[in-house]
Amino acid sequence: MRKIFLMLLALFFVLAVPVQSVYAAGFSERAASLAEVKAVRVSTSSEKVRLVVDAGAEVNYETMVLSNPQRIVVDLHGAWLNSSVNKEMVLDSRYVSKVRIAQFNEDTVRVVIESNVGRNSYDVFALEGGSVPYRVVMDFGNLGKSSSGVTIDFGKKPEEKPSSNPVILNPDKKDNEAKPDAVTTEKKPEKVIVEPVFTKGILGKTICIDAGHGGSDVGAIGPTGVTEKSVTLKVAEQLQNLLKTAGAKVIMTRNSDTEVSKKKAAASDIEELQARCDVANDADADIFISIHLDSFSSSTPSGTTGYYYGSGTKAGQRLSQKVAEGVIKSLGTSNRGNKACNFYVVKHTDMPATLCELAFISNNKEEKLISSPAGVKKAAEGIFEGIKSFFG
Ligand SMILES: [Zn+2]
Repeated sequence: MRKIFLMLLALFFVLAVPVQSVYAAGFSERAASLAEVKAVRVSTSSEKVRLVVDAGAEVNYETMVLSNPQRIVVDLHGAWLNSSVNKEMVLDSRYVSKVRIAQFNEDTVRVVIESNVGRNSYDVFALEGGSVPYRVVMDFGNLGKSSSGVTIDFGKKPEEKPSSNPVILNPDKKDNEAKPDAVTTEKKPEKVIVEPVFTKGILGKTICIDAGHGGSDVGAIGPTGVTEKSVTLKVAEQLQNLLKTAGAKVIMTRNSDTEVSKKKAAASDIEELQARCDVANDADADIFISIHLDSFSSSTPSGTTGYYYGSGTKAGQRLSQKVAEGVIKSLGTSNRGNKACNFYVVKHTDMPATLCELAFISNNKEEKLISSPAGVKKAAEGIFEGIKSFFG
């Protein structure tokens, strides 16, 4: 009996101790890397309500719909809520009546939007960089061409919708009891995903290059004052030369230090980003390459990240991976991964698209590297090699 007890005890230590220590290490790492939710801003117009969540770093989010009353719940994972943020907002709008924000658990901030708009009448996407490192934007209302849906179906109860509709019915449950498996992450039956088929090689391809930021939007700023917009343009220009020499048709969203939208500095961030998507979509480009530099509140993080639209084509994911790999090889930066995202420009372009964060402008070493003529050249060559590899 005693033997069995000792064996069980030993087994307990073998199993429990490593699990606990792994958990503890994982938790402290995560706690240190949580993004601060600094503000939630609301703007209303006759067309829509827009909520913008300002975060100190990238967050992953999930969207779900709850009923009675109908609420759209957006969970921001890896985030903590600054106590100065307004926790409840009552809106005088036909699209949204109330917004509540709370720390849902240790690493999730939950935004609950009481709204009767149909599921094709809201859109959630992310914006990178600039004066605020990361923003999650939520639109409710008449979304027009910048979104996947246009019709508003007020008054329809979720029960009346087709069975394929991922609306969750749990009227007895409060928001904070919503099960994780009730999540309906962005599963709108919007576009049918069609994988593009390309001929081999760069020759004859139409490639849209988007130099991130520009004009009134400087993007992120490095420790010595280097601006993201200046570096992205230089890299874009050199990439353009390489691609043209290889026989591609190149479309630039901008060729100088300016905004892309006709409204110039008066354009909203979304209008500006939509203008960039329009350039690529109108040109029927084969691929879209958006060039950016990463930034963080501390100077420690470094490396290259590829981003692609998570609900997009496999080709988009592959393009993102190839471009990031090319940059990493050429610049000698560390690999931060190829990540699915909802960044506006990769979500709202119609072709395989990537947003590449070449390096961290907030990191002293990488600011110096990426702003040097040699660094710019290497970055452009790296992207070029990635594109070449993508087309095979
Ligand atoms: Zn940027």
